[in-house]
Amino acid sequence: MHRHRIMKRIRPYLSYIISISFALLASFFCAEGMEAKDFVVVIDAGHGGHDPGAVGNFSQEKEINLKVALKLGKLIGDQCPGVKVIYTREKDVFLSLNRRAAIANNAKADLFISIHTNALPDNQRVRGTSTWTLGLAKSDENLEVAKRENAVILYEDDYRTRYAGFDPNSSESYIIFEFMQDKYMSQSVHLASLIQQKMKTVCRRNDHGVHQAGFLVLKASAMPSVLIELGYISTPSEERYLNSENGSSALANGIFQAFQAYRKEQGLRQDVSSQTAVSTQEEKAAGNPDAAAEGREATAGSRLVFKVQVMAVTAPLPPDDKRLKGMRDVDCYQEGGWYKYTCGVSADYNEMVRLRRKLASKFKGAFIVAFKNGKKMDINEAIEEFLKSRDKQ
Ligand SMILES: [Zn+2]
Repeated sequence: MHRHRIMKRIRPYLSYIISISFALLASFFCAEGMEAKDFVVVIDAGHGGHDPGAVGNFSQEKEINLKVALKLGKLIGDQCPGVKVIYTREKDVFLSLNRRAAIANNAKADLFISIHTNALPDNQRVRGTSTWTLGLAKSDENLEVAKRENAVILYEDDYRTRYAGFDPNSSESYIIFEFMQDKYMSQSVHLASLIQQKMKTVCRRNDHGVHQAGFLVLKASAMPSVLIELGYISTPSEERYLNSENGSSALANGIFQAFQAYRKEQGLRQDVSSQTAVSTQEEKAAGNPDAAAEGREATAGSRLVFKVQVMAVTAPLPPDDKRLKGMRDVDCYQEGGWYKYTCGVSADYNEMVRLRRKLASKFKGAFIVAFKNGKKMDINEAIEEFLKSRDKQ
């Protein structure tokens, strides 16, 4: 009797419960046996320890930076599965600029976000946020910002040897930034503009724009990187805002939303770029009509296989998802917080080219990915390998 009543109560939810269990099961299998490469973001709270950074009437830059950094890290940690957050510091300690960059480089980070607070001399009352990327300063004001931030190396005992004679206060030193090649520039600038955009819309901050200047900490980090000047500690109303819970939460949220937008676009762009890479090699590989049969034989030993990636989503799909209905060899792998779904599998690249064409009407952005011994590999190298092994035949 009692049991009957319970069943009656949960019956309407039964299909829901079942589909959730399936989804959980699917996500378990998705994650299994796959190289789940985390997207790594390093959050760098500027200054710390005996380096207070800019100093206001009642607070110090290092405290504001840390508070916003920790709030940002928590937002990402809570809401972005597959993203690993690394802090350069989580408390009030001193770190050299090189050490901060080394933490990011050693972690092979995908992104470096350095958080700072600006200041101006002579009671200038300025309010607003700016975001900086590595480059040559176009104005004296911009150069001043970099000088002030770089001056922290003066707190390091051996800064002359460590930074190869760089004098943060001498404009001549900054010539090194003129001839510098930064291959991450476009990504950095893009993230910087997203941050400024969100600062304006989400936090209603005055937009002081995206700028370039010679920041040592950005120069030493080998990944897309930005430095944010949250606001002006030297302006009393700004200092109050920057130190308030509301203020620091809003600023962290603004950066967080920009981060999410960047990640989303980055995922799409990666898909597009591998697709372009594929099509340039496609003709080469498709040149030999007999490749189909041979390819399968030739690459079987190294277990190199090609699949067609049809979509990337942030959460695993239920097994009965309509979009995957009737598709063959559906598989899923995790990468940088994405669940990427593939269909088809073959050691023959051309077979997947044909499958991709067939699927093009349903999945416009579909492209080919390669796996070797179960691990995802660079598609160009995979095609190269496929062509070589085919030529040997
Ligand atoms: Zn600073």
